[in-house]
Amino acid sequence: MEVILAEYLGFCYGVKRAIQTARDNATAAGGASTLGPIIHNPQMVERLQSEGIGTINSLGDMKAGTVIIRSHGVGPTVYAEAEERGLNLVDATCPHVKKAQMSAKELAEDGYRVVIVGERNHPEVKSIVEWADGDAVIVESVAEAQKLQPVEKLGIVSQTTFSGSKFKEIVAELLELSRDVRILRTICTATDQRQAAAAHLAGQVDMMLVIGGKNSANTTRLAQLCTARCPTYHIETAEELQPQWFQNVNRIGITAGASTPDWIIREVCTQCQRI
Ligand code: SF4
Repeated sequence: MEVILAEYLGFCYGVKRAIQTARDNATAAGGASTLGPIIHNPQMVERLQSEGIGTINSLGDMKAGTVIIRSHGVGPTVYAEAEERGLNLVDATCPHVKKAQMSAKELAEDGYRVVIVGERNHPEVKSIVEWADGDAVIVESVAEAQKLQPVEKLGIVSQTTFSGSKFKEIVAELLELSRDVRILRTICTATDQRQAAAAHLAGQVDMMLVIGGKNSANTTRLAQLCTARCPTYHIETAEELQPQWFQNVNRIGITAGASTPDWIIREVCTQCQRI
Protein backbone atom coordinates (compact mmCIF):
# COMPACT_ATOMS: atom_id res chain seq x y z
CA MET A 1 0.00 0.00 0.00
CA GLU A 2 1.31 3.42 -0.96
CA VAL A 3 0.82 6.41 1.34
CA ILE A 4 1.23 9.80 -0.33
CA LEU A 5 1.33 13.11 1.51
CA ALA A 6 -0.14 16.26 -0.04
CA GLU A 7 2.48 18.75 -1.19
CA TYR A 8 1.24 21.26 1.39
CA LEU A 9 -0.31 20.08 4.64
CA GLY A 10 -0.38 20.71 8.37
CA PHE A 11 0.78 23.69 10.41
CA CYS A 12 0.79 27.01 8.60
CA TYR A 13 2.94 30.01 9.39
CA GLY A 14 0.24 31.74 11.47
CA VAL A 15 -0.40 28.71 13.68
CA LYS A 16 3.33 28.05 14.24
CA ARG A 17 3.78 31.67 15.19
CA ALA A 18 0.83 31.62 17.64
CA ILE A 19 2.06 28.45 19.35
CA GLN A 20 5.60 29.79 19.64
CA THR A 21 4.25 33.05 21.08
CA ALA A 22 2.24 31.09 23.66
CA ARG A 23 5.27 28.98 24.61
CA ASP A 24 7.47 32.09 24.89
CA ASN A 25 5.00 33.43 27.47
CA ALA A 26 4.36 30.19 29.40
CA THR A 27 6.31 31.37 32.43
CA ALA A 28 5.02 34.96 32.44
CA ALA A 29 4.42 36.48 35.88
CA GLY A 30 0.84 35.85 36.99
CA GLY A 31 0.41 33.03 34.45
CA ALA A 32 -0.53 33.00 30.79
CA SER A 33 -3.75 31.97 29.10
CA THR A 34 -5.09 32.14 25.58
CA LEU A 35 -8.46 33.77 24.97
CA GLY A 36 -10.29 30.78 23.50
CA PRO A 37 -8.42 27.62 22.42
CA ILE A 38 -5.19 28.70 20.71
CA ILE A 39 -6.01 26.62 17.63
CA HIS A 40 -8.85 24.34 16.60
CA ASN A 41 -7.01 21.19 17.60
CA PRO A 42 -7.93 19.63 20.97
CA GLN A 43 -4.74 17.52 21.15
CA MET A 44 -2.48 20.58 20.78
CA VAL A 45 -4.54 22.58 23.27
CA GLU A 46 -4.12 19.75 25.79
CA ARG A 47 -0.37 19.64 25.21
CA LEU A 48 -0.02 23.38 25.82
CA GLN A 49 -2.15 23.05 28.93
CA SER A 50 0.42 20.59 30.31
CA GLU A 51 3.12 23.18 29.56
CA GLY A 52 1.30 25.74 31.73
CA ILE A 53 -0.68 27.67 29.11
CA GLY A 54 -4.34 27.80 30.07
CA THR A 55 -7.44 28.76 28.13
CA ILE A 56 -10.00 31.32 29.23
CA ASN A 57 -13.36 32.03 27.62
CA SER A 58 -13.56 35.71 28.53
CA LEU A 59 -11.26 38.33 30.01
CA GLY A 60 -13.42 38.32 33.14
CA ASP A 61 -12.04 34.82 33.88
CA MET A 62 -8.60 36.32 34.54
CA LYS A 63 -7.56 38.49 37.49
CA ALA A 64 -3.95 39.14 36.43
CA GLY A 65 -1.22 37.92 34.12
CA THR A 66 -0.82 37.60 30.37
CA VAL A 67 -3.61 37.02 27.90
CA ILE A 68 -2.59 35.71 24.49
CA ILE A 69 -4.74 36.57 21.49
CA ARG A 70 -4.85 33.54 19.19
CA SER A 71 -4.27 33.55 15.43
CA HIS A 72 -8.03 34.01 14.69
CA GLY A 73 -7.84 37.52 16.16
CA VAL A 74 -10.37 39.56 18.14
CA GLY A 75 -12.31 42.80 17.79
CA PRO A 76 -11.08 46.20 19.08
CA THR A 77 -13.14 45.99 22.28
CA VAL A 78 -10.99 43.13 23.59
CA TYR A 79 -7.80 45.23 23.39
CA ALA A 80 -9.54 48.04 25.29
CA GLU A 81 -10.97 45.69 27.93
CA ALA A 82 -7.60 43.99 28.53
CA GLU A 83 -6.05 47.38 29.16
CA GLU A 84 -8.86 48.39 31.52
CA ARG A 85 -8.40 45.19 33.51
CA GLY A 86 -4.64 45.74 33.73
CA LEU A 87 -3.82 42.54 31.85
CA ASN A 88 -0.69 42.13 29.75
CA LEU A 89 -1.92 41.44 26.21
CA VAL A 90 0.26 39.51 23.78
CA ASP A 91 -1.10 39.57 20.26
CA ALA A 92 -0.61 36.39 18.20
CA THR A 93 -3.23 37.32 15.60
CA CYS A 94 -2.04 35.96 12.26
CA PRO A 95 -0.88 38.83 10.01
CA HIS A 96 -3.22 37.54 7.28
CA VAL A 97 -6.19 37.82 9.65
CA LYS A 98 -4.99 41.30 10.64
CA LYS A 99 -5.01 42.24 6.98
CA ALA A 100 -8.63 41.06 6.60
CA GLN A 101 -9.61 42.98 9.75
CA MET A 102 -7.89 46.20 8.63
CA SER A 103 -9.29 45.89 5.10
CA ALA A 104 -12.83 45.69 6.52
CA LYS A 105 -12.12 48.67 8.79
CA GLU A 106 -10.82 50.81 5.91
CA LEU A 107 -13.72 49.87 3.63
CA ALA A 108 -16.22 50.82 6.35
CA GLU A 109 -14.41 54.13 6.96
CA ASP A 110 -14.49 54.86 3.22
CA GLY A 111 -18.28 54.45 3.18
CA TYR A 112 -18.49 50.98 1.63
CA ARG A 113 -21.14 48.49 2.69
CA VAL A 114 -18.85 45.71 3.94
CA VAL A 115 -19.63 42.12 2.96
CA ILE A 116 -17.56 39.38 4.57
CA VAL A 117 -17.57 36.13 2.62
CA GLY A 118 -17.15 33.51 5.32
CA GLU A 119 -18.79 31.46 8.06
CA ARG A 120 -20.86 33.60 10.42
CA ASN A 121 -20.06 31.51 13.50
CA HIS A 122 -16.30 31.48 12.99
CA PRO A 123 -14.40 33.60 15.55
CA GLU A 124 -12.25 35.19 12.85
CA VAL A 125 -15.32 36.35 10.92
CA LYS A 126 -16.88 37.72 14.11
CA SER A 127 -13.69 39.70 14.75
CA ILE A 128 -13.71 41.13 11.20
CA VAL A 129 -17.32 42.30 11.74
CA GLU A 130 -16.22 44.19 14.83
CA TRP A 131 -13.39 45.93 12.97
CA ALA A 132 -15.97 47.05 10.36
CA ASP A 133 -17.70 48.94 13.19
CA GLY A 134 -20.04 46.05 13.88
CA ASP A 135 -21.90 46.84 10.69
CA ALA A 136 -21.02 44.23 8.06
CA VAL A 137 -23.02 41.59 6.26
CA ILE A 138 -21.79 38.00 6.36
CA VAL A 139 -22.42 35.87 3.30
CA GLU A 140 -21.78 32.12 3.33
CA SER A 141 -23.40 31.03 0.07
CA VAL A 142 -24.52 32.13 -3.38
CA ALA A 143 -28.14 31.89 -2.18
CA GLU A 144 -27.42 34.38 0.61
CA ALA A 145 -25.66 36.73 -1.82
CA GLN A 146 -28.73 36.68 -4.09
CA LYS A 147 -30.92 37.97 -1.26
CA LEU A 148 -28.90 41.18 -0.71
CA GLN A 149 -30.22 44.56 -1.87
CA PRO A 150 -28.24 46.78 -4.30
CA VAL A 151 -26.07 49.46 -2.67
CA GLU A 152 -24.05 52.41 -3.87
CA LYS A 153 -20.65 51.17 -2.68
CA LEU A 154 -19.86 47.55 -1.85
CA GLY A 155 -16.62 46.33 -0.27
CA ILE A 156 -15.85 42.61 -0.10
CA VAL A 157 -13.36 40.78 2.13
CA SER A 158 -13.05 37.06 2.80
CA GLN A 159 -12.43 34.81 5.75
CA THR A 160 -8.76 33.82 5.41
CA THR A 161 -9.57 30.09 5.28
CA PHE A 162 -12.58 30.26 2.95
CA SER A 163 -12.81 28.07 -0.15
CA GLY A 164 -11.27 29.89 -3.12
CA SER A 165 -13.74 28.45 -5.62
CA LYS A 166 -16.78 29.25 -3.46
CA PHE A 167 -15.48 32.80 -2.94
CA LYS A 168 -15.34 33.24 -6.72
CA GLU A 169 -18.95 32.06 -7.16
CA ILE A 170 -20.24 34.34 -4.39
CA VAL A 171 -18.32 37.37 -5.70
CA ALA A 172 -19.84 36.83 -9.16
CA GLU A 173 -23.29 37.35 -7.55
CA LEU A 174 -22.17 40.30 -5.41
CA LEU A 175 -20.86 42.14 -8.48
CA GLU A 176 -24.50 42.56 -9.57
CA LEU A 177 -25.29 44.65 -6.50
CA SER A 178 -23.29 47.81 -7.16
CA ARG A 179 -21.34 49.76 -9.76
CA ASP A 180 -18.67 50.54 -7.21
CA VAL A 181 -17.35 47.24 -5.87
CA ARG A 182 -13.99 46.78 -4.14
CA ILE A 183 -12.84 43.18 -3.74
CA LEU A 184 -10.14 42.33 -1.24
CA ARG A 185 -9.52 38.60 -1.56
CA THR A 186 -8.05 38.00 1.87
CA ILE A 187 -7.84 34.20 1.62
CA CYS A 188 -4.32 33.37 2.81
CA THR A 189 -1.65 31.63 0.74
CA ALA A 190 -1.45 28.66 3.14
CA THR A 191 -5.17 27.99 2.61
CA ASP A 192 -4.91 28.26 -1.18
CA GLN A 193 -1.89 25.93 -1.22
CA ARG A 194 -3.47 23.31 1.06
CA GLN A 195 -6.76 23.30 -0.85
CA ALA A 196 -5.07 23.01 -4.27
CA ALA A 197 -2.69 20.26 -3.09
CA ALA A 198 -5.50 18.28 -1.44
CA ALA A 199 -7.76 18.46 -4.51
CA HIS A 200 -4.87 17.43 -6.77
CA LEU A 201 -3.92 14.45 -4.61
CA ALA A 202 -7.54 13.33 -4.12
CA GLY A 203 -7.80 12.96 -7.89
CA GLN A 204 -4.90 10.47 -7.92
CA VAL A 205 -5.59 8.09 -5.02
CA ASP A 206 -8.18 5.49 -3.95
CA MET A 207 -8.87 7.10 -0.59
CA MET A 208 -8.05 10.31 1.26
CA LEU A 209 -7.49 10.78 4.96
CA VAL A 210 -7.95 14.35 6.13
CA ILE A 211 -6.45 14.92 9.57
CA GLY A 212 -7.47 17.72 11.88
CA GLY A 213 -9.88 19.01 14.50
CA LYS A 214 -13.54 18.33 13.78
CA ASN A 215 -14.04 21.94 14.89
CA SER A 216 -11.45 23.25 12.41
CA ALA A 217 -13.03 25.15 9.51
CA ASN A 218 -10.05 24.80 7.20
CA THR A 219 -9.76 21.03 7.83
CA THR A 220 -13.48 20.56 7.18
CA ARG A 221 -13.06 22.44 3.91
CA LEU A 222 -10.22 20.13 2.87
CA ALA A 223 -12.45 17.14 3.65
CA GLN A 224 -15.26 18.61 1.50
CA LEU A 225 -12.89 19.17 -1.42
CA CYS A 226 -11.54 15.61 -1.21
CA THR A 227 -14.98 14.01 -0.74
CA ALA A 228 -15.97 15.41 -4.13
CA ARG A 229 -13.10 13.45 -5.72
CA CYS A 230 -12.70 10.12 -3.85
CA PRO A 231 -13.79 8.29 -0.66
CA THR A 232 -12.59 10.49 2.20
CA TYR A 233 -12.40 10.19 5.99
CA HIS A 234 -11.93 13.16 8.31
CA ILE A 235 -10.13 12.02 11.46
CA GLU A 236 -8.52 13.76 14.42
CA THR A 237 -6.11 10.98 15.43
CA ALA A 238 -4.73 7.62 14.27
CA GLU A 239 -7.02 5.86 16.77
CA GLU A 240 -10.02 6.58 14.55
CA LEU A 241 -8.65 4.57 11.58
CA GLN A 242 -10.89 1.61 10.70
CA PRO A 243 -9.35 -1.46 8.97
CA GLN A 244 -12.40 -1.86 6.68
CA TRP A 245 -11.64 1.52 5.05
CA PHE A 246 -8.46 0.01 3.61
CA GLN A 247 -10.06 -2.90 1.74
CA ASN A 248 -9.25 -2.78 -2.00
CA VAL A 249 -7.25 0.39 -1.48
CA ASN A 250 -3.77 0.65 -3.03
CA ARG A 251 -3.00 4.34 -2.83
CA ILE A 252 -3.88 6.49 0.16
CA GLY A 253 -3.57 10.25 0.12
CA ILE A 254 -3.06 12.21 3.32
CA THR A 255 -3.65 15.88 4.01
CA ALA A 256 -4.05 17.85 7.21
CA GLY A 257 -5.49 21.18 8.24
CA ALA A 258 -3.38 24.22 9.08
CA SER A 259 -3.88 23.51 12.78
CA THR A 260 -2.83 19.83 12.75
CA PRO A 261 0.48 19.11 14.53
CA ASP A 262 3.19 17.10 12.73
CA TRP A 263 3.25 14.40 15.40
CA ILE A 264 -0.40 13.50 14.70
CA ILE A 265 0.28 13.32 10.94
CA ARG A 266 3.27 11.02 11.61
CA GLU A 267 1.18 8.72 13.83
CA VAL A 268 -1.50 8.38 11.14
CA CYS A 269 1.13 7.55 8.46
CA THR A 270 2.72 4.90 10.70
CA GLN A 271 -0.65 3.37 11.55
CA CYS A 272 -1.65 3.23 7.85
CA GLN A 273 1.47 1.18 7.09
CA ARG A 274 0.57 -1.25 9.89
CA ILE A 275 -3.00 -1.93 8.76
S1 SF4 B 1 -4.56 29.52 7.89
FE1 SF4 B 1 -3.69 31.37 7.00
S2 SF4 B 1 -4.71 33.03 8.09
FE2 SF4 B 1 -5.06 31.18 9.29
S3 SF4 B 1 -3.40 31.20 10.77
FE3 SF4 B 1 -2.70 30.00 9.01
S4 SF4 B 1 -1.55 31.48 7.71
FE4 SF4 B 1 -2.83 32.62 9.16
